Amino acid sequence: MSLSIFSLAGKTALVTGARSGIGQAIAVGLAGAGADVILTGHQDNLQETEELVRQTGQQAFSYQLDLEHPASLPEACREILAKHQVDILINNAGITIRKPAANLAYEEWSKVMDVNLNSAFVLIQQFAGPMLERHSGKIVNIASLSSFQGGITVAPYTASKSALAGITRALSNEWASQGIQVNAIAPGYVQTNLTQPLVENPVRNSGIMARIPAGRWGRPEDLVGAAIFLASGASDFVTGHVLAVDGGWLAW
Ligand code: NAD
Repeated sequence: MSLSIFSLAGKTALVTGARSGIGQAIAVGLAGAGADVILTGHQDNLQETEELVRQTGQQAFSYQLDLEHPASLPEACREILAKHQVDILINNAGITIRKPAANLAYEEWSKVMDVNLNSAFVLIQQFAGPMLERHSGKIVNIASLSSFQGGITVAPYTASKSALAGITRALSNEWASQGIQVNAIAPGYVQTNLTQPLVENPVRNSGIMARIPAGRWGRPEDLVGAAIFLASGASDFVTGHVLAVDGGWLAW
């Protein structure tokens, strides 16, 4: 055994929501481990991540995939699959709407469910097909502490992330015997655009900080090791697992 079990050389990974935060860090991290990376986002602004991936010596390819419209995804995926073999799918993109549930419009509920859950499932269906034919593939869903806990005024986010953990296990059961591992990573509190309102809210920020055993907010780079592990041959007997990378939050 050597460190080569973590190598992603010769593999191509697709990362959704690769423009910023955790998605950008994972895309660049997988490239550092030897993968070429397909970057997707809903706006034409993936250049920074493209440049960071290319600095590792790997190739970067960018595509627009708007996850607010799950029904539009199969056609876009077919276009990607016509040009690339996708060995690793990282369902990273996600949004939240922080609002008391009683005041939430149905459209707001559906938007979060479409981006965080429904699109993730459609992408898994589309990219798992060829993986099943090859008897090989890695699917990693970016879940959340809200896959385990209720959260505060984020009902649709919690619903979507709890369901994402559920389909991680359900699809693992379907595909474990067919060479595909389906896992998830549950990041703890990580400082990104998504959590900036919490960082800037003194009451929430001090409550969160006091509750993190590691004593600090996570950084997007903190997720890279888990992502490389779950994308690589090192995790070939790990499937259906939700791996918390949370500075000890869930153990507290
Ligand atoms: P972020 O806002 O930096 O990243 C979210 C990404 O999703 C962005 O690149 C954005 O462009 C993309 N996105 C948003 N709407 C989209 C759409 N309609 N179509 C396609 N892409 C879209 O925030 P982040 O914290 O890096 O979030 C990444 C993932 O990590 C999310 O799934 C989030 O739920 C999860 N997560 C984050 C934290 C945290 O503390 N930051 C904790 C747990 C889970």
